[in-house]
Amino acid sequence: MPQPLPLLLSPVTVGPLTLRNRVVMGSMHTGLDDRARHTDRLAAFYTERARHDVGLIVTGGCSPDVSGWLLPFGSMMATRRTADRHRAVTDAVHAEGGAIALQLLHAGRYGYSPLAAAPSSLKSPISPFRPRALTTAGVQRTVEHFVRAARLARRAGYDAVEIMGSEGYLLNQFLAARTNRRTDAWGGSADRRRHLPVEVVRRVVEAVGDDLAVVYRISLVDLVEDGQTWDDVLALAHELEQVGVHALGTGIGWHEARVPTILSQVPRAAWASLTARLRAHVDVPVMAANRINTPEVAERLLADGTADLVSMARPFLADPALVTKAAAGRSDEIMTCIACNQACLDATFANRTVSCLLNPRAGRETELVLLPVPETRRRAVAVVGAGPAGLATAVAAAERGLRVTLFDAADELGGQFRLAMRVPGKEEFAHALAAYDRQLQVRGVDVRLRTHVRPADVVGYDDVVVATGVVPRAVAFPGHDDPRVVSYAAVLAGDVVPGPRVAVIGAGGIGVDVSTFLVHEELPGDHGTSGPETVTHFLARWGVDETVSSPGGLAVRSAPAPARQVWLLQRKTSRIGAGLGRTSGWAHRMTLRDNGIEMIPGVSYDRFDDAGLHLTLPSGASRVLPVDHVVVCAGQESERSLYDALVAAGRTPYLVGGADVCAELDAERAIREGTELASRL
Ligand code: FAD
Ligand code: NAP
Ligand code: SF4
Repeated sequence: MPQPLPLLLSPVTVGPLTLRNRVVMGSMHTGLDDRARHTDRLAAFYTERARHDVGLIVTGGCSPDVSGWLLPFGSMMATRRTADRHRAVTDAVHAEGGAIALQLLHAGRYGYSPLAAAPSSLKSPISPFRPRALTTAGVQRTVEHFVRAARLARRAGYDAVEIMGSEGYLLNQFLAARTNRRTDAWGGSADRRRHLPVEVVRRVVEAVGDDLAVVYRISLVDLVEDGQTWDDVLALAHELEQVGVHALGTGIGWHEARVPTILSQVPRAAWASLTARLRAHVDVPVMAANRINTPEVAERLLADGTADLVSMARPFLADPALVTKAAAGRSDEIMTCIACNQACLDATFANRTVSCLLNPRAGRETELVLLPVPETRRRAVAVVGAGPAGLATAVAAAERGLRVTLFDAADELGGQFRLAMRVPGKEEFAHALAAYDRQLQVRGVDVRLRTHVRPADVVGYDDVVVATGVVPRAVAFPGHDDPRVVSYAAVLAGDVVPGPRVAVIGAGGIGVDVSTFLVHEELPGDHGTSGPETVTHFLARWGVDETVSSPGGLAVRSAPAPARQVWLLQRKTSRIGAGLGRTSGWAHRMTLRDNGIEMIPGVSYDRFDDAGLHLTLPSGASRVLPVDHVVVCAGQESERSLYDALVAAGRTPYLVGGADVCAELDAERAIREGTELASRL
């Protein structure tokens, strides 16, 4: 049989380092990096990825000094004591045949710390702290601190250092006129703004380059006003090569940019053409990154000459065994990251340990363990409901060796999650369901669809897990029973195709998703639904100048006309969309605004009739929205009828996911609860 992924799995040399393959696990701040007491958990996290054949692991960003802290007392490499503590991590990775790079990251004005320092004293829009401007001597000391950190990385047993020069952190801040207003030797013209990153790399290569690979992560497009042009990027790349850098990683967009770079609505490998352009101009190996989430996409980028290595970060939270499965020709078992950011980046920004919506064991490798059940205790388990909670319970219980039957009344797996994948930008949710389907087969779960379970159906099972989820909540104003007042489930399932003017009741996550669906979904007669967006459309819609000839690579945004006129309503007076994800909510809100959706908080619903939906506004005034349909997205209620009937019949079933608590339910909680329950069965 031909070797799957021959390029991705082939070795590559980066400076003094030879890697077993071209797969890089990109840097992620895990929340375990910052405290010595978490070293064992951090080692376990990296070990699980190294054991599964990742070529090079890059750690979360580690500051060279206090002024570069991401957070107060955050991860820093400044003493021999710290370096010696890191040995636990590097030894664990090496024991699995892996290689590991320490990422050196000075946060600059992104530091969430009163001690933050930057090229100029300009506050960033994403941190409450105004940084102090580094003095000229302070810049020189910063170079020394990078060198010290690199030497300590060598002492700690790292194989490489990655110098973080993208995403709008300190070195990127020095490069851009937006943030570098200095008049000394480290600012002014573009070549003087390049001076610090080049000097850092020159000195680090000089200090450790014979022993460690030195990688610089270069920003290919800043996506902010007064950012770099492509000429600036190329000039930097050439100067870095001249001072001996061993490889170039790539980054896209600053954290404060208002263009999504890795969210689910970004097409896969959307930024690859920039990486290919860079590679054509340099001799050192180049790594592609950003919104690459499968080994097949990675292989394609190597085959078409885009890059020499491929970095994926979040995909290794979703599935640590991604490389091993791909190498064994079992890619269909990979749990592919759906780019939701919910349990990873949103958690980081909330100062919590990262994990993954699809893999709650990520970051909890030592705590959430699926121990095998001895042969004599292999009980028969009925799991009722194949939404995220039931799927996670069934897969994890079967992994432990329990005999699992999974029931669902529907004719397909997925529950509410199946509706989510109809939303533009959430198409990849389908991959998660396909992976669950495959994992059920591989683990021998007996799946019975189209089976509405009653207590008599589960009499012979030792344990019953009720994962019957939620049902949409109904509303009760006059006219609610009109056939033009419909639930989100009917609309997303395609049972109802709303007319050109629609009111959406409820502005939670589902109301926002349904509004997005309505403005994208073509009307009847327009020949069906739109699929995932193309890269060209995506870049045009978000105003990206692909040539990066303008500073920061920004262009005028050009959005297609919305398919419908939509009003999005809620009773609360708070800002609409305030409860959306920390790292994704802004993009959803921009999409709503770009599509002309009128958002009205603080309403009460009076009635629906042929004139439309009658509202009372917060001012007390009345308003009629002349709509063809009303789509109700007013939350959900737990579906507990099976549970109640089982209890009435004297059984003690387990309850999990939305069937247990519907308030603030999402797939992350449903999957986490299912996995945790399975670990205890
Ligand atoms: P459900 O998904 O409701 O599954 C319950 C299952 O039980 C159903 O398949 C049902 O058919 C079955 N069932 C019920 N009774 C019986 C019975 N008696 N016998 C047999 N089978 C039965 N969450 C996120 O985290 N991120 C998102 O981005 C996101 N986007 C969403 C977008 C949309 C449009 C929607 C609708 C939801 C979204 N969600 C999202 C929410 C997420 O899908 C739900 O929180 C999750 O599906 C709840 O999981 P569950 O397993 O508890 O219940
Ligand atoms: P939700 O977030 O609870 O929102 C329900 C909405 O309905 C609220 O806007 C609420 O606002 C309104 N509402 C509640 N009761 C009502 C009533 N009786 N009449 C009229 N309006 C009523 O729930 P959801 O939007 O259904 O989402 C369900 C879960 O899925 C959420 O936990 C969400 O996190 C998750 N989800 C997540 C994403 C994501 O991108 N992360 C996307 C979709 C869903 P008022 O009470 O102010 O009117
Ligand atoms: Fe990917 Fe979402 Fe998991 Fe983060 S939480 S790794 S974005 S699937």
